[in-house]
This record gives sequence, structure tokens and C-alpha cells, in this order.
Amino acid sequence: MKPLVFIPELIASCGLELLRTACDCVAPWEDGNPALEASQLRGLLYEADAVIVRLFSITAQDLQKAGRLKVIAKHGVGVDNIDCQAATARRIPVVYTPAVNTDAVAEYTLALMLALSRQINLASEALREGRFSERNRFQGVELTGKTLGIVGLGRISTRVAQIAALGFGMTVYAYDPYVSPAMYSGPATLVEELETLLRLADFLSLHVPLTPGTARMINRQSLTLIKLGCRIINTSRGGVIDEDALILALREGRLAGAALDVFEEEPLPADHPLCHAPNVLLTPHIAGLTQTSLERTALMAAQGILDVLHGKTPEHVVNPEALG
Ligand code: NAD
Repeated sequence: MKPLVFIPELIASCGLELLRTACDCVAPWEDGNPALEASQLRGLLYEADAVIVRLFSITAQDLQKAGRLKVIAKHGVGVDNIDCQAATARRIPVVYTPAVNTDAVAEYTLALMLALSRQINLASEALREGRFSERNRFQGVELTGKTLGIVGLGRISTRVAQIAALGFGMTVYAYDPYVSPAMYSGPATLVEELETLLRLADFLSLHVPLTPGTARMINRQSLTLIKLGCRIINTSRGGVIDEDALILALREGRLAGAALDVFEEEPLPADHPLCHAPNVLLTPHIAGLTQTSLERTALMAAQGILDVLHGKTPEHVVNPEALG
């Protein structure tokens, strides 16, 4: 019998094709099935030998019930929706797909920064509502000559720093306690304290994983230190920002704007206070979604699963200690 791979969320068809060379795949979305109940989806997980998840969560409780599960593949890099510790305890490797959407997310971060600096979403909304004559309300700021502060200097933000510095002539500072200045040779200047970055940045862009050390690192206190009129861009994880504190800072005018692709709660409810906050640009977690990146991600996730099922060492594994 072929191993059974459960794929609760849409992935590019090339990933399914690769898996089907050696496995049976259960992908309820594939033939246009109406959305299954959450409990039905969980039931499918408990029958599977392998699973590919995007935002679908896998808890320690799930792992207890998923007795056949041999490998979890994260379609992406942020593994905060998977209890990796519980997976390790059960010797289930968690494979992931680093670098495949670096360019997509980096370019999208710059797109958000540009849109925010020129209020493009608000101007477009005004025009479609017949308010063309309000055009003078939409005076923006230029990126050229401004200071960008980057929190977390990893794959995505290294690319953001290059485009911002070399393309837009921005001065770039970065805060990342895990990057040694001696090992870094890009255009950003590393600072030792987050507070320094907050005081310097006209634009603050967040690129850290969600961990206990980064949860709500942008909070009421940090937002009192931030440069007046700063604009925040978040394409990392929603939990990195205290959203109530952010809304307050926007309402009080301490922040000139915020562009958010990720939220503490996803999907973001339509009546969420963020939807009514001033000068915000919100998108539904799409920074990494380009055709190229989706194809590369699906192929890498599928390959990771096949490697584990065939007893090979996968290229990218979050918990190598789980490999037998
Ligand atoms: P990466 O691992 O290459 O970089 C993360 C960086 O954060 C590392 O350099 C690390 O040292 C640094 N870091 C960790 N803890 C820190 C702390 N407390 N303070 C400062 N820096 C800290 O990751 P990446 O591939 O560049 O991805 C970055 C983020 O983007 C992740 O949160 C990921 O989930 C998110 N992401 C979002 C989307 C999307 O569609 N919106 C797509 C891909 C990735």
C-alpha cells in the first residue's frame, strides 16, 4: 500500500504530481469540494502518513491521535503553527522550505512600503468612490533619503536591505542579536539595541520568526520610543506586534501608517479594530504568493516528504534530532 499524504490547503499541482509518483494524496480542495468542517479535516490528518501544511495548525494533541504520521512538511518557513517540540518527542521530522519565497516576500515588503508612503490604497478607494477632487489629501513621502530599520536580518530582509539601499538610496539599519557585524557584509548597519533602531527609523520593517523571544516585541513600550511619524511594515508574523498598542499609536498619530500582511488571528475577522484604524493597509497573508514561489515551495515540500518516507536525509529539517 502506498503512503497516504494529506494536503489540507491548496498547493501548486507540480507538488501533487511529484508526490503521486510514490504516494496517494488526499487533497479535499482539489476537485472543488465544498470546504470541509474543521473536525473532518482533523479526521483526515489522523489517517495520514505525511502532511503538508501552510496555515493549518498541528498541535501536540493532534500528534497523539495521528498514530501513522511519519513526517510533517511546512509549505513555507514559519513553523509557529506546528508543535515542533511534540513532533520531536514523537520522532516526527518537520521539513520546511527556506529561501523559495525570499524574493517574493522581499519585493512585496517594498511594495507595501511604497504603497504606504504614497497612500496608494486610500487614494484608489477615494477615486472609486467619486472623490477625485480630494487628491491633495494624498501627499506622500519619498523613500529616497529616508531611514529604514529592519528587525531580524535573515534571508528576506537581507534582500529588502539591498533593494532599499541600492534601489531607493535609503539608509538601512538592522537589529539582529544573532548576526555578528564581522560576518555581515551587506548595506545595512547593525545596531546592538532594538531601541536604537526604533529611534532612527522612518520605516520599520519586521522580519523575525514568531518565537517566545519575538512575541509582541513591538508593544506599547516600544511604540512610545519609536520616532514620531514612523511607518511600520509587517510581513513576518502577526504575533510579533501587540495589535492593540499599534492601533492606539495610529489613532494618536505617533505612527504615520502601518502595512500589515500578517495578523495575530488569521483569517482576520472583517470587524476587527485594525480594519477601522487610520492609515492602515491590510492584505491577507499574500507576501509569498507568486506563481514561481508557490511552485518551488510545493516541489520542495513534496521532496522533503518523499526523502523522509524513503529513508533519506531531507535537505531542510527543523528538528534533525527527530531523524532516526
Ligand atoms: P530567516 O530565518 O532567514 O530570518 C529570521 C531572522 O530573524 C534571523 O536572522 C534571526 O537571527 C532573526 N531573529 C530571531 N530572533 C530575533 C530577535 N529576537 N530579534 C531580532 N532578530 C531575531 O527567516 P526569513 O526566511 O527571512 O523569514 C522571516 C519571516 O518572514 C518569518 O517570520 C517567516 O515566517 C515570515 N514569512 C512570511 C511570509 C508571508 O507570506 N507573509 C512568507 C515567508 C516568510
